[in-house]
Amino acid sequence: MPAPLDTERLAEALRLVRARIDAAASAAGRDPAGVALLAVSKTWPAEDVRALVGLGLRDFAENRVQELTGKAAALADLTDLRWHLVGQLQRNKAAAVVRLGATVHSVDRLRLVEALSRAAEQEGRQTGVFVQVDLGGPEGELGARGGAVPAEVPALADAVAAAPGLQLRGLMAVAPRDADPAPAFARLAELSARVRADHPGATAVSAGMSGDLQAAVAAGATVVRVGTALFGSRPIASREESATDPVRPHESHQHHR
Ligand SMILES: *Cc1c(COP(=O)(O)O)cnc(C)c1O
Repeated sequence: MPAPLDTERLAEALRLVRARIDAAASAAGRDPAGVALLAVSKTWPAEDVRALVGLGLRDFAENRVQELTGKAAALADLTDLRWHLVGQLQRNKAAAVVRLGATVHSVDRLRLVEALSRAAEQEGRQTGVFVQVDLGGPEGELGARGGAVPAEVPALADAVAAAPGLQLRGLMAVAPRDADPAPAFARLAELSARVRADHPGATAVSAGMSGDLQAAVAAGATVVRVGTALFGSRPIASREESATDPVRPHESHQHHR
């Protein structure tokens, strides 16, 4: 992993992200306090997370269970930190995630609901769950970015709501790459309203990343998941722990996704 970022740089990146959220909320006539910032720390060192906790952030997300458990162990002294999983989860790793008290944003199938519920009961902890929705690719094709197809989402939400140990928080989605995110976020908002009709507590909408958070906030997102705009561009071969130095914010022009 790369060397930790300078705290002053992180503070500046955090200020810029908060300013973007505030501006988007104001433009949409929304209270900025209704939009939570989830920092996606995948590929970045635990010390960057520690620095952001020092700057007031509490919610952090990873997309791989192994990295999540490693970072959580390295930061176990920070008792008010909340972990989230935003990547694919295998059933045999459900217990490890539940044990951390993490919220799972990527629930997309019934068998995973069952595994998480079993783990939550065994561990004796309530686990927050988002149902991930597949909003399709640039041409509307499904399967591009993970999640349950929209037609299956209400039934999946019912299953989460009925599962012991699980709390249905709402819906999560990733907008299609290389396409206008607004129509996709509008479909997500519609689906969220349908789910809320049956589950009034499932008010959360986890949508929007570094490149499209304004569009997500305009469409009603209550959680934005931001990596690049806080930490810089991820190394391309991040899975292989690339030896090359990744680009960090302010060292070069940042790109979004
Ligand atoms: C990596 C990731 C993010 C953050 O993306 P950025 O473009 O770096 O802000 C958000 N959501 C999910 C599901 C991710 O995997």
